[in-house]
Amino acid sequence: MDLRSKIKKFIYKTLLGKKYYRKGKCIRCGACCSRIYVRHSKHTITSEKEFEKLQYIHPFYTYLKIQGKDEIGLIFSCSNFDSNKHICKIHKKRPGICRRYPDELIFPMGASLSEGCGYSFTPIESFKEVLSETEKNHIRKGIFFTKGEDNFNKD
Ligand code: SF4
Ligand code: SF4
Repeated sequence: MDLRSKIKKFIYKTLLGKKYYRKGKCIRCGACCSRIYVRHSKHTITSEKEFEKLQYIHPFYTYLKIQGKDEIGLIFSCSNFDSNKHICKIHKKRPGICRRYPDELIFPMGASLSEGCGYSFTPIESFKEVLSETEKNHIRKGIFFTKGEDNFNKD
């Protein structure tokens, strides 16, 4: 890994606490404005009653209309999306959550990028790096794994 990549990794992983690099750009498909989950106080909103209370907290919630529900939670669409012109009607004044989208925090919610989204996420740590780090941790703790056996031997 060259120096530039190492610095980038340090900034994203250590300073910003990220697990993924985000690449790409918005191609204005509008999918993320038409299928929205709302997360509040570390859980995804699943009931209309809960959502009604949220509408007093932030104006963004007043833009949202319930479209349905699935195993993750209520699904909303935003009334500010102009589906003919494929633009956000309040683009310059859109809320911070929209400016930051897509954020990797969608993954712990059980959500994923909309199909066809112009963005993609790549793990900062490759599988090989995670495996190597796990092995180092095991060695530090005195746990050893013998190839060909499916059990760990602790000293
Ligand atoms: S789903 Fe992705 S490409 Fe489509 S509007 Fe949202 S951010 Fe842009
Ligand atoms: S405010 Fe604009 S960017 Fe945010 S969800 Fe609504 S239409 Fe999309």
